[in-house]
Amino acid sequence: MLITKSPTKTTSQSLLHQSVQFLKGVGPKRSEILERLGIHTIHDMLHYFPRDYKDRTRIQKISEAKIGAEITIQAKILAINNRMARNRKYILEAFVTDETGTIAATWFNQPFLMNKFHVGDNLFLHGKVGAYKYLQLLSPEYEVIQDAETNIKEGGIIPVYPLTEHISQTQFRKIVKEAVHHFANHIEEILPKELLVNNQLLPLDKAIREIHSPETFDTLKRAKLRLVYNELFTLEMAMALRRSGIKEETGIAFKSGPNVDAHIRNLIPFTLTNAQERVIHEIKEDMRSSKPMNRLLQGDVGSGKTVVAIYAILVAIANGYQAAFMAPTEILSEQHFQTIQKYLQHSHVRMQLLTGSTNSKYKKDALEQIRNGQIDLVIGTHALIEETVQFKKLGLVVIDEQHKFGVIQRLKLKEKGFSPDVLIMTATPIPRTLSITLFGDLDISILDEMPPGRTPIKTFWISKDKEKDSYNFIHGEISKGRQVFIVYPLVEESAVLDLKAAVTEARKLQHDVFPASKVGLLHGQMKSGDKDKIMTDFKERRYDILVSTVIIEVGIDVPNATVMVVEHAERFGLAQLHQLRGRIGRGSEQSYCLLFGNPKTNEARERLKIMTKTCDGFKIAEMDFKLRGPGEFFGTRQHGLPELKISDLIRDFPILKQARSDAFEIVSKDPHLTQETHQKIRQKVLETFKDRLELISIG
Ligand code: ADP
Ligand code: MG
Repeated sequence: MLITKSPTKTTSQSLLHQSVQFLKGVGPKRSEILERLGIHTIHDMLHYFPRDYKDRTRIQKISEAKIGAEITIQAKILAINNRMARNRKYILEAFVTDETGTIAATWFNQPFLMNKFHVGDNLFLHGKVGAYKYLQLLSPEYEVIQDAETNIKEGGIIPVYPLTEHISQTQFRKIVKEAVHHFANHIEEILPKELLVNNQLLPLDKAIREIHSPETFDTLKRAKLRLVYNELFTLEMAMALRRSGIKEETGIAFKSGPNVDAHIRNLIPFTLTNAQERVIHEIKEDMRSSKPMNRLLQGDVGSGKTVVAIYAILVAIANGYQAAFMAPTEILSEQHFQTIQKYLQHSHVRMQLLTGSTNSKYKKDALEQIRNGQIDLVIGTHALIEETVQFKKLGLVVIDEQHKFGVIQRLKLKEKGFSPDVLIMTATPIPRTLSITLFGDLDISILDEMPPGRTPIKTFWISKDKEKDSYNFIHGEISKGRQVFIVYPLVEESAVLDLKAAVTEARKLQHDVFPASKVGLLHGQMKSGDKDKIMTDFKERRYDILVSTVIIEVGIDVPNATVMVVEHAERFGLAQLHQLRGRIGRGSEQSYCLLFGNPKTNEARERLKIMTKTCDGFKIAEMDFKLRGPGEFFGTRQHGLPELKISDLIRDFPILKQARSDAFEIVSKDPHLTQETHQKIRQKVLETFKDRLELISIG
């Protein structure tokens, strides 16, 4: 017989990774249903957490009912009675009993309840006790207890799982119970003792038991704390490993003395803002260091990121390296190309634009020149990450609007050089809360100051009855030679209906409202090439008005557009509204953002109010994040992060900070997690990030 080194370890692991079919009560059919919930193994089952709990800790007796007080009881229906009261209100009464007495549960105007209840049903009821001719529970909360549940005779704190309709809570609870009963003792602790002690964390197996069947609300809280910590610790561990991996690489130590600096400044036609100076200083320090730069530059639309990027690009080129600048769309790449060309017209920098529509014969030459170093700066779309693109000496990678690319593409471009410096730019202000999690592996620079001489955009919330006046106002702007965006939300899920709505609206505006103006249309079903064409036409003033159902490309520059109308503004999120507003106010003229909308919810009203009060992207982002929560704010998936099952980045921010500092400390002492005490963590991180191994660097 073979002797394995640590038999218990392997056994526990493989036991937990058995199929759920090994659990009692789970056959092929059930396992299919569980599969759809993402539960394949017993481990998955144990980590499928309740979304809520029911408090059954204090079930009282009907004999204890006191008029005016609240009571929770478990009782059986003896009779059901429904009638019409004198005021024509419908009344449903269920007379229920436990072994101590009888009480009537009374609901008003809910006739559908009639079908919910049957004589003989067992109910949990919670409500206020009143008295009419007899004792009553007035409109109590109720739950019909299913047969199986009565047999189990559960009191206590009952978990409620996020399920589909194919499996009931009771059935699911039973399976979880099986899993916990037979397998929870095989769950191994992943954290070193000191962390458990210092943070007063429950052992992992105990936490898993508790989360599924809590003894008390207090222990439940501790179980949650432990599992939240676990999740965030794993995430931060991956960040820490990645960051330390990058820092271990040897990058390029660029030289940038006063000569280069003076040279670059000569090309910039204005005085840099303090924020630009600060950020350029940060970038210069990174570039001088022999560790590769990995920096995120956040700055609202118009804050002047381009010139910062140009500074970095020129430092690289001055040192004899090539630079690559990647933007998410062709039109943005072209725009960047033109802007940068203008800045560099008196320099010797050799530039090349490379996009999907670059003519193939021309492209071949271009690729050759990039390969042999005749090109210093390549600007383009993700065409840049194609295999055919090879650099002679790539030293700097600049990526605009990173959230459109995701981490993987970022890495691909980077791999075209030998540890080049990376600068990522985003105009989406990201609240600090989020950026330290999402971009935990990046250093962050913020441009929080606008260049001088800008007229702040005036934003108005226009109610339905004032829309006509706004159209007159828009007429006025157009007659001054200005251009206008009119944006509609996606009305339907269906692209066809969406298109129809947009076409109809554009036609109506053209014929009924602005017959003398030229109205263009941009909609979600267009191919990206056609979209670019319409945008270009608009930019070149072939249209006065652009009607759009899609979010107009971030970063599109049409200085002559001074009005942004958002129809049904209440249907847009804050971040979207802010992005839309960023399309205007790019010239020297006063710009106006008109938000049409009659919001029905407080939250929607709040959003519109915030928009009229501030133009500060960071403030708006922070509010947005608070209003909507991180899941909505933007999907974590596209950032290459695993889905958070139990944590909430806002609510659990203090735990996140602790987990982060613990993870970074461990990695600072054991950068490749080679120590024996860190093996379980290592396994856990590898397992969690198994689809994204390129994101972490464990030796
Ligand atoms: P972003 O890319 O951050 O949206 P840009 O780099 O496109 O912003 O800059 C917006 C506008 O402001 C450009 O027209 C640019 O020339 C101008 N600009 C940038 N920095 C300054 C500055 N320090 N002083 C004056 N104008 C500036
Ligand atoms: Mg820009």
